[in-house]
Amino acid sequence: MDFDLTERQRKRHEELLTALAEGTTERPPGAERPYDRERWSAAAGLGLTGLCLPGEYGGGDLDALDTALSLESFGEGCSDTGLVFAVSAHLLACGVPIRDFGGEAARAELLPGLASGALIAANAMTEDGAGSDLGTLSVTAERDGDRYVLHGEKSFASNAPAADVFVTYAVTDPGGGYLGISAFAVPRELPGVQVGETFDKMGLSSCPAARVRFDGVSVPVRLLLGHEGQGSAVFTHSMAWERSCLFAGYLGMMNRQLRLCVQHASERRQFGKAIGSYQAVSHRIAGMKQRLEGARLLQYHAAWLLSQGRTDNGAIALAKVAVSDAAVANSLDAIQLFGGSGYLRETGVEVDLRDAVPAVIFSGTTDIQRELIARGLGL
Ligand SMILES: Cc1cc2nc3c(=O)[nH]c(=O)nc-3n(C[C@H](O)[C@H](O)[C@H](O)COP(=O)(O)OP(=O)(O)OC[C@H]3O[C@@H](n4cnc5c(N)ncnc54)[C@H](O)[C@@H]3O)c2cc1C
Repeated sequence: MDFDLTERQRKRHEELLTALAEGTTERPPGAERPYDRERWSAAAGLGLTGLCLPGEYGGGDLDALDTALSLESFGEGCSDTGLVFAVSAHLLACGVPIRDFGGEAARAELLPGLASGALIAANAMTEDGAGSDLGTLSVTAERDGDRYVLHGEKSFASNAPAADVFVTYAVTDPGGGYLGISAFAVPRELPGVQVGETFDKMGLSSCPAARVRFDGVSVPVRLLLGHEGQGSAVFTHSMAWERSCLFAGYLGMMNRQLRLCVQHASERRQFGKAIGSYQAVSHRIAGMKQRLEGARLLQYHAAWLLSQGRTDNGAIALAKVAVSDAAVANSLDAIQLFGGSGYLRETGVEVDLRDAVPAVIFSGTTDIQRELIARGLGL
């Protein structure tokens, strides 16, 4: 067992941190930055929109572990977690299924733009009646010659207001259950695609999200991902990548947050001493470190398994739960450590909590991941 990063991985981390520090991806403390194409392009310029997409289409050709490590660097070097999430969702929930299930024509049409960041993608799976329970999808796709006609509405798609292409899922065989769903890449310009108003969210403000409606959208067969009826498998595969890699961005966030807390605890003085000399404070920081390191090992393990071609849904669920729970707990601790100033937007501390809370919801809620873990134990 080797826990060391390779020289190459270390170098990539250093280079990304340096480039991010010089780039335009940073969010000034306290500022709520809405979606900004310029900062998206700055991240894309660093190769972040195409990390694990094929080199022949302009991607970085990275495996899952290296993708996770790069997203961790992104989360550490860029305090705009909304941007980190937006890029990661584009790459993992959209780029990956097109990479692995798109036909030659779909790959050639979409992957170069997705890798370079010239095209933005949104994953549209969730519906009003189908959140955790994806067996109740209502969006339908009916074959009509060399096209599929899509009808219905998706209720929550990150990146949607900015997106050029949607990866979406629709029922092609109403009685088919798991095999009754198909996956599609749907260009926004197709007639009948309607994106709703941008949601007013609690956090991740620079990742805009909205509803997406398909009103008789006629999608060419070449944009079917996988075979008809393979949609559930396509989605499961994309979520394995998302849960194994996207959450590494939160590891980076926690790293940055921890450094800030140590600095504050060393500099802030009360009762004549640095607050870090009080055990209540130092042990809180020790607890933050422990949660971060435990979550990191689980995340690396899940990503490493995926890199070996072994999709282990139990390991992936453990990682997802550990990182998202740690991100929320550490963000609460960070606010406590900063006292009243931690509660003020201008300090730039409370925003991490608002950005962390959705991590226990998206990509399969933490409760559902615990169900998977329990089922893996035979319960
Ligand atoms: C910031 C953010 C970004 C998102 N981005 C996207 C996106 O890009 N694309 C997309 O398609 N969707 C996206 N979503 C939607 C997300 O995937 C869903 O919110 C999530 O799957 C949960 O579905 P729901 O909201 O309908 O909650 P519900 O499924 O109604 O769940 C409500 C509560 O009940 C619990 N629960 C439900 N069933 C069970 C069960 N069997 N056992 C135990 N507990 C259960 C859940 O854990 C949860 O706590 C995003 C959500 C957020 C918050």
